[in-house]
Amino acid sequence: METITAYIGLGANVGETADTLRRALEMLSTRDGIQVWRISQFIKTQPVGGPEDQPPYLNAAAEIHTTLSPEELLAVLHEVESALGRDRSRELRWGPRTCDLDILLYGPEIIDQTNLTIPHPRMHERRFVLEPLAQIAPNAKHPTREKTITELLSELR
Ligand code: ATP
Ligand code: CA
Ligand code: CA
Ligand code: CA
Repeated sequence: METITAYIGLGANVGETADTLRRALEMLSTRDGIQVWRISQFIKTQPVGGPEDQPPYLNAAAEIHTTLSPEELLAVLHEVESALGRDRSRELRWGPRTCDLDILLYGPEIIDQTNLTIPHPRMHERRFVLEPLAQIAPNAKHPTREKTITELLSELR
């Protein structure tokens, strides 16, 4: 089975956010077909979009090595979000949530399905994604923008 290097974006802004991110990473690492390889620092960021006055986020990025398909990986991320108390039926778009896990990159693959877009369609414009990702994967290439993470981050400044 082929092992793919993928990058996950993590965010939390409700409850004990650092504990939540640690638990999410722990749950991911115990799953078959996922190894958590590198973890960025946890960085505190101001919310972008969504309702006003929501609490700040704690964001991070992780490199995983996985034998799961992108669809299988997304299903695992949703399971972990639910296990950490996220209830999608009761939340606002970009509103407060206990845990948000996104697939940022999945090897060099480009995927455009209704429920799954990779690279994550908004990652290149988000400092709260690029900053932690640049800590662990500065030279990873964005497959459609054909730039490294460091280059994308410097374009935001
Ligand atoms: P954003 O996508 O702008 O970061 P969000 O993370 O708040 O917003 P969610 O409500 O968590 O959005 O997810 C909405 C849907 O996005 C999910 O049900 C999932 O099917 C879809 N989705 C598409 N591409 C991805 C991806 N690369 N990673 C995670 N979810 C994705
Ligand atoms: Ca594992
Ligand atoms: Ca997100
Ligand atoms: Ca998400």
